[in-house]
Amino acid sequence: MKNYQRKRVLVTGGAGFLGSHLCAKLLHQGHEVLCLDNFFTGTRDNILPLLDHAHFELIRHDVTFPLFVEVDEIYNLACPASPVHYQFDPVQTTKTSVHGAINMLGLAKRVKARIMQASTSEVYGDPHIHPQTEDYWGHVNPIGFRACYDEGKRCAETLFFDYHRQHHLPIKVARIFNTYGPHMHPDDGRVVSNFIVQALQGRPITIYGDGSQTRSFCYVDDLIDGFLRLMASPEEFTGPVNLGNPGEFTILELAQQVLDLTGSKSKLEFRPLPHDDPRQRQPNITLAREQLGWDVTVPLQQGLKPTIAYFEKRLSLS
Ligand code: NAD
Ligand code: UDP
Repeated sequence: MKNYQRKRVLVTGGAGFLGSHLCAKLLHQGHEVLCLDNFFTGTRDNILPLLDHAHFELIRHDVTFPLFVEVDEIYNLACPASPVHYQFDPVQTTKTSVHGAINMLGLAKRVKARIMQASTSEVYGDPHIHPQTEDYWGHVNPIGFRACYDEGKRCAETLFFDYHRQHHLPIKVARIFNTYGPHMHPDDGRVVSNFIVQALQGRPITIYGDGSQTRSFCYVDDLIDGFLRLMASPEEFTGPVNLGNPGEFTILELAQQVLDLTGSKSKLEFRPLPHDDPRQRQPNITLAREQLGWDVTVPLQQGLKPTIAYFEKRLSLS
C-alpha cells in the first residue's frame, strides 16, 4: 500500500481478542494503528508482536473518559464480551458501552472520522424469530443480569444512529455473533475457550443447562474480514449488519467436537443454566452477502484446530 492511502486508525479495545487481530490486520495493510485499551480483559500478550512496529501506538485509556487524538477511522470495540466479565462490574459495563459510544462519537464528529461500532447478537436477546434478521427488534430483559451488556449495546446503537441523523456522521454498525479463535483469554469464561481449556487439562466440561441451547460460531479471520469490508463500504450503507457464521450447533455438539479434536477423556458436568441464557442463535447473513460481498469460509471443525493449538501453547507457557 502506498503512503497516500495510509490511514490513522483508532481501535478501542485493541488489546482484546478481536481488537488484537484487527490491529495486526490493519498494520499489515499499511495503516497507522492507535490501539486503545484499559486492560480490563485485554492483555499486552495479544499485541506483543505489534509493539515494535513503527506504525503501532499503544494508549492506556478508559473509553468512559474523553479522548483527544487525530484519526481517520475508529473501530469501537472496547467492552468486555464474556458474560462472566461483563457481569463482574455491571455499572462499568453499561458506562463502557454508553459513555464510551458518546466519547468516541464525539471524537469522530470533531475529526470527521468514519466510525464502526462492535455491536452484538445480544441486541436480539432470547429471540422469537429464527434465524435473526437485522429488522428484528429483539426480546431483551431490561432488568436482568445480562441487561448491562445487552441494553448498553442497544443504547450505543441508538447513539450511533442519532449522531448519523443529527450530525451526518458516517457510521457503521456490525452485529457480531459468537466468535472464537486464538487470543481468547484462557479464563475468559466463554464457551469455546472454557471447553478447550477444560479438555486440554482433563477437567470436566461444564455444560450449563442440558446443553440443548444453540449458538453459531464464527472463526475470527472471517469476522475481521467482515469488519474491513464494512468500514470500506459506501457511506450510505450504515448497517446494522449481522456478521457471524450461520452454522448452528447445540452446546453438547460443541463439547463433542472439542473432545474429538483434543482426544481428551474429560467427562461432561452439568451445571445450572445462567439467567436469561438465550435458547438459540443463528445469524441470517443475507445483507452482509449482498452489501459487503462477505461470506464465511471457515467451518467450526476447521477453526477449532488452530484455536486448540493456540491454547495448547498458551497453557504450556503459564
Ligand atoms: P475482549 O474482552 O477480549 O476485548 C474487549 C477489550 O476491551 C479488552 O481488551 C478490554 O480490556 C477492553 N476494554 C473493556 N472496557 C474498556 C474500557 N472501559 N476502556 C478501554 N478498554 C476497555 O472481547 P472481544 O471478544 O474481543 O470483543 C470485542 C468487542 O466485540 C466487544 O465490544 C464485544 O462486545 C464485541 N462482540 C464480541 C463478540 C465475540 O464473540 N467475540 C460477539 C459480539 C460482540
Ligand atoms: N456455556 C456452557 N458452559 C460454559 C460456558 C458457557 O454450557 O462453560 C453455555 C452458555 O450457557 C451459553 C453458551 O454456552 O448457552 C454460550 O455462552 P458464552 O458465554 O460463550 O456466550 P453467550 O452467547 O451466552 O453470550
